[in-house]
Amino acid sequence: MDIYSGPVFDMARTQFHRIADHLEIATDRRDRLLYPKRAIAVSCPVTRDDGRLTVFQGYRVQHHLTLGPTKGGTRFAPSVDIGEVAALAVWMSWKCALAGLPYGGAKGGVTVDPYSLSRRELEGLSRRYMQEMIPFVGPHTDVMAPDMGTNEQVMAWFMDTYSMYQGRTVTEIVTGKPVSAGGTLGRREATGRGVAYLVERAAERIGLAMTGATAIIQGFGNVGSITAASLAARGVRVIGVSDHTACYFDPRGLDVPALLAHAGTTGKLAGFSNEMVFDPAELLAQPCDILVPAALERVIDGAMAARLQCRVLAEAANGPTTPDADTVLEQRREIFVIPDILCNAGGVIVSYFEWVQDLQQFFWDEAEVNDRLYRVLQRAFAQVLARAERDGISLRTAAMAIGVAKVRDAKDTRGLFP
Ligand code: GLU
Repeated sequence: MDIYSGPVFDMARTQFHRIADHLEIATDRRDRLLYPKRAIAVSCPVTRDDGRLTVFQGYRVQHHLTLGPTKGGTRFAPSVDIGEVAALAVWMSWKCALAGLPYGGAKGGVTVDPYSLSRRELEGLSRRYMQEMIPFVGPHTDVMAPDMGTNEQVMAWFMDTYSMYQGRTVTEIVTGKPVSAGGTLGRREATGRGVAYLVERAAERIGLAMTGATAIIQGFGNVGSITAASLAARGVRVIGVSDHTACYFDPRGLDVPALLAHAGTTGKLAGFSNEMVFDPAELLAQPCDILVPAALERVIDGAMAARLQCRVLAEAANGPTTPDADTVLEQRREIFVIPDILCNAGGVIVSYFEWVQDLQQFFWDEAEVNDRLYRVLQRAFAQVLARAERDGISLRTAAMAIGVAKVRDAKDTRGLFP
C-alpha cells in the first residue's frame, strides 16, 4: 500500500512487473524504476461566477529525471486522483523512451468537470494551478502539455502565468500552445495523425486494405476526432463513434465531416442525430476492422477482450487495456494490437518538436513537422515489430520492454547519487 494505490496505478504496477520479469530485472532494482521521483499536491481556490469560493485539488507527478526534463499532459477530469496521475506519468516515461525523446514522464491533473466551469472560472483554475506549480516546473525540469479536458487555450494561460512570474515570455514551459502563442504547426493534429499512420502500417502488415475498411472510435475529443478525419482521408469507413454525451453506430458508415463540424461547434457529439443512437457499452464489441479506444483507461477488460471483433486494436487512449485483457489478447493473435505507448506517441513527439523550436526560436513548416513525426513513429514501430518477432512476445511486451530497458540502462549508467 502506498499513496498511489488504486485501480489505475495498480494496473501500471502489474504491467511493469510483467515487463521487469521479462527483462529479468532484480527485485530490489524495481522500485527505483517504478516509483515517481516526486509528487506534488496543491489546492486551487477559484472564485466562482456567483461569488462562492471552490477549492479544487490538483496534482503533478514527475516520474524520473534521468534522461532530461519530465514531460506530460495535464488532465482536467472528475476521475483525477494521485494514483491515476502517477500511472499516466509512468506510462509517459515508457512512451518517451520508446520514441527516443530526451524526457522522463510526468502527468498533472485537477479533479474537476471542466465542462461545468464558465470560461472565466476555467481561466482562474488554470492560472492558479500553474501558479502553484511554479516552484516545481521549468523548461529544463518539467514541461506540461494538454490531456483530457484541457486544450490550447489552457496551455496559453499556463504559459502566460509562468511568463508573468518570470518577467519574460517563456514559451518553452509548455507545449500544445496555440500557434499564435509560440505553438508549433501540426501539434493539435499530431496524436490522431500518428494513430492513423500506425494503423496504416499495421494494415500493411496484415494485408488489410485501408480503402473500405471499417473503424469504430470511442472518444471524440482532440485525439478521437482527428483520428476519424485521418482514417476517413485514407478511405476508411467510420461506422461507430462515441463520447461522454452520445454514441452513434451505422454499419453503412457515418458522415465524418458532418460529425467533425457538429463537434467543432457544440464541443460534443450529443444532438448530432436522433437516428443511429447506440448503446455505448456495446460499441467496442461490434464487428469492425479497426477499433480505436480514444477516451479513458481500462475500458477493455478481460471479458471485453474476449468479445472484440476487430483486426487492428489501435490504443489511442492511455491504458485502455487491462492486464487481464492482455492475457486474453496474447491468445488472440489474430488481433494486431498497436500498444498505447506507441499508438498515441505522436502527441508527445510533436510536443518535443515544439519545445525544440521554442528553445531555438526557429520554426518549421507543417510538412517538416509531419515528415519528422512519421519518421520517428516508423522507427519505433519497426523496433517494436522486430523485438516482438525476435523474442516471440506480444507487441505490448515488446514496446514496454524497449521503453523500460532504456530507462533502466540510463539509471544504471549514471549510477546512484550520492
Ligand atoms: N497528454 C498527451 C499524452 O498522454 C501528450 C503529452 C505531451 O505532449 O507532452 O501523451
